[in-house]
This record gives sequence, structure tokens and C-alpha cells, in this order.
Amino acid sequence: MIYFDKVSKVYFDKSLALDDVSFTIEPGEFVSVVGHSGAGKSTLLKMIIAEEKPTEGKVFFESVDVHSLSHRRIPDLRRRVGSVFQDFRLLPNKTTFENIAFTMEAAGRSDEEVQSDVPHVLELVGLDDKMWHFPFELSGGERQRVAIARALVNQPDLLIADEPTGNLDPVTTHEIMEIFKKINDIGTTVILTTHNKGVIDKLGKRVLTLERGRLVRDDKEGRYVI
Ligand code: ADP
Repeated sequence: MIYFDKVSKVYFDKSLALDDVSFTIEPGEFVSVVGHSGAGKSTLLKMIIAEEKPTEGKVFFESVDVHSLSHRRIPDLRRRVGSVFQDFRLLPNKTTFENIAFTMEAAGRSDEEVQSDVPHVLELVGLDDKMWHFPFELSGGERQRVAIARALVNQPDLLIADEPTGNLDPVTTHEIMEIFKKINDIGTTVILTTHNKGVIDKLGKRVLTLERGRLVRDDKEGRYVI
């Protein structure tokens, strides 16, 4: 599903964010990308949705070279990938329902679909009782659940999450990780970044370790080593 072929990224200020990185991710996998701050984790995720371009090498999403896509076709790619971020990125003046409905409307989904799918996806993340709350009325963990529901509602093939538990306490982190596992169990490929050792060691899934832009480990049932 995802193939990085000798990808390097040098930013304008000459910082080397990725250094000759190659790996493949198959459909249905759950992959964590770990490493210290500045190791290149976010850059790696941004490559997948064409937010950053490799300086060298290629990134493929299902045999399509992501960076050969024309500007007109990039939205199609991004619709197939749901994104979740550390800081949730909800619209503050919209309720839970409206935040998710907004994403569906942007993708051209009908009113009927909005009415049926929003409650369904909120049930999946265990938040159907907070449908009419605004973000400021929700806890951090609840806000992240809304963000995950929003990322899932257009049925992406892949979910990417950049430090999704970075702002959450350990108990909430555990709950959010259980949701990611559930999403993966129903067939969505998941790639997340974290520098939380506890999260990784409990998961028992594949771990890619980055160190100053280099892929230094790729472990099947990995632990956080560095
Ligand atoms: P991580 O997510 O592991 O913290 P990043 O991918 O954010 O790592 O960053 C990798 C390296 O690239 C760091 O040295 C960082 O300072 C640099 N970097 C990231 N984004 C930019 C940017 N937009 N411009 C210049 N340098 C950047």
C-alpha cells in the first residue's frame, strides 16, 4: 500500500529530515514510527499525503507515485487518507456533529449520508453522547475521539496520526490506542508516530525507528529501543 523508495528530504535550511529511507507497508498493517523529537517522523507522514516532497527518492501510494500527481489529483489522494494530529485541529465554533458533518460535506456527501454516518462513527469512538457539545466542553481525550471520528467518516484506506496521544494523560492515551486498534481490526491501515515508549511496548505491532532521519530498525512485533 505504501512504498518509500530511497527517500531523502533536505529542508531549505539544509536540515536533513530523512536520509535514504526505504520500507513497504502492506494493507491492514498497524505501524508505529518512533524516534526522538526531530528524527523525521512528521516529515515521513507528510510525504504520504504530498504535504512535503522528497529531495530524492519516491513515495508510492498503491503504485501511484505520490509526487507525480497533478495538483488537481492531490485532493483525491487526501480523501483516501484520514489524518489525526496531536493538537486535534477541531473547528472551535462547531459542535461534534458539525465538525464531522463539515468534512463529509467537503467530500460531496449527501445530507442523508451525514445524518446516518455521523452517529455511526461517533459510536465507533464511544462518543455518541457528546454529539451536540462544542470542543471547549470536551476533555482532551474526547476531542481526540472527535478528530479520529472525523478522520474515519469518509472511510479512508489509511489512517495517519502524528503524535495523537502527545497531549493526553496515560489513561486517556490507553483508551485512544484501543480505538486505533479497533479501527485497524476492522481493516483500516494505521500509521502513527509517537515518542511514548509505554504505548509502543504495549502494542506488540510493527515499529519503524528513525534516528536523525535514518531508518535504523524495522521490527515486526517491536519495542521502543532507543
Ligand atoms: P519529528 O516529527 O520526528 O519531530 P520532523 O519531521 O518534524 O521530526 O523534523 C525532522 C527535521 O527536519 C528536524 O531537524 C526539523 O527541525 C526539520 N524540519 C521539519 N520541518 C521543517 C521545515 N518546514 N523547515 C525546515 N526544517 C524542518
